[in-house]
Amino acid sequence: MQKNKIILPPKTIGIIGGGQLGRMMAIAAKYMGYQVAVLDPTPNCPTAQVADKQITAAFDDLEAIRQLTALSDVVTYEFENVDLEAATYIEETGKLPQGGFALEITQNREKEKRIMREVGLPIPDFYIVKNGSECEKVLNEITYPAVIKTCSGGYDGKGQIKLTGEADATEAMAFADKHQHCIIEKWVSFDKEISVVFTRSQSGEVEFFPIAENEHKEHILYKTTVPATISNTVKHKAIDATIKLAEKMNIVGTFAIEMFVDGEAIFINEMAPRPHNSGHYTIEACNISQFTQHIRAICGLPLTNVELLQPAAMINVLGADMERALAYMSNSNDGYIHLYGKDAVKEKRKMGHITFIAETNERVDKLVRDYEGEKA
Ligand code: AMP
Repeated sequence: MQKNKIILPPKTIGIIGGGQLGRMMAIAAKYMGYQVAVLDPTPNCPTAQVADKQITAAFDDLEAIRQLTALSDVVTYEFENVDLEAATYIEETGKLPQGGFALEITQNREKEKRIMREVGLPIPDFYIVKNGSECEKVLNEITYPAVIKTCSGGYDGKGQIKLTGEADATEAMAFADKHQHCIIEKWVSFDKEISVVFTRSQSGEVEFFPIAENEHKEHILYKTTVPATISNTVKHKAIDATIKLAEKMNIVGTFAIEMFVDGEAIFINEMAPRPHNSGHYTIEACNISQFTQHIRAICGLPLTNVELLQPAAMINVLGADMERALAYMSNSNDGYIHLYGKDAVKEKRKMGHITFIAETNERVDKLVRDYEGEKA
């Protein structure tokens, strides 16, 4: 087992990707006294607004990656689509404690599913297709509903189509011809979606955040509620699956695994090698946030034992919700609002989130309903 390589403030943490996740990592790092450098092509991106330095360049610009690595003592990332050549370069300098393997797996749904299967985890039945005619063959054999997804590059429901019956086959075949490397999954019926957000240190210790229950609208996370209302059996299955994947992939840092729950059964959906939207509630509801714990892990500090301080709900603020969120902010002293400093407001763009915490779940629900009823 690897030993923790300790990096102390005021050393520099380099972050690849300057969106909201990088921003919240940077804020956590700044609180602790670190310096932060970010690589992102957009000048004054959300992370740059709170960082010490920005390198404004494309993510696959290897010269920019070299610059970031040279001025950082440790490098991390806010998204899984980091250029693998860049990741290998940083890993070879000894400055990427998370390694490149978790990126390679999570960039590709086929590799992700195969590793889940290898460790014996329950997943929806799946078929890999490389073009329209392979897609047609699979659709002739399976029963609907199903879903076709691109193997790489999709997020927030982009890059997938739900297939409810034979009428959708033509569209699915065109999709497979266009994207080439696709996965067709059986649609599992589920009672709820949950996520396990956890952090693993370089020496292999793991700290779990409370399991979160997630509600999506149009494939985009709408609400996370904690604690999730799941049985102990489901909880143990979810934790057990997580430990198996974390060890198999030698994960370092904060990581999230999304799952479907059907009765007492779970199916693993996908994973993210970074802090996750469904872990934002930890900022106010736990004694340590997913971001601070991530910084501790990559800097080789001992992980903090996680405690939930109060039940919580987190609601995403998309562009379409901005007016409501600002009206709520002006009128209410409940709710912790986070806005990410994005330049342009777009209807489905994640602009911020609000976390509600209270002594009871009922009170949290009431606070959420009050917010939802807020007139813009
Ligand atoms: P994903 O991008 O794979 O996380 O899919 C986005 C959302 O689509 C998930 O959060 C689910 O709500 C739904 N979904 C995706 N795949 C399946 C599946 N095989 N069965 C049921 N629902 C799914």
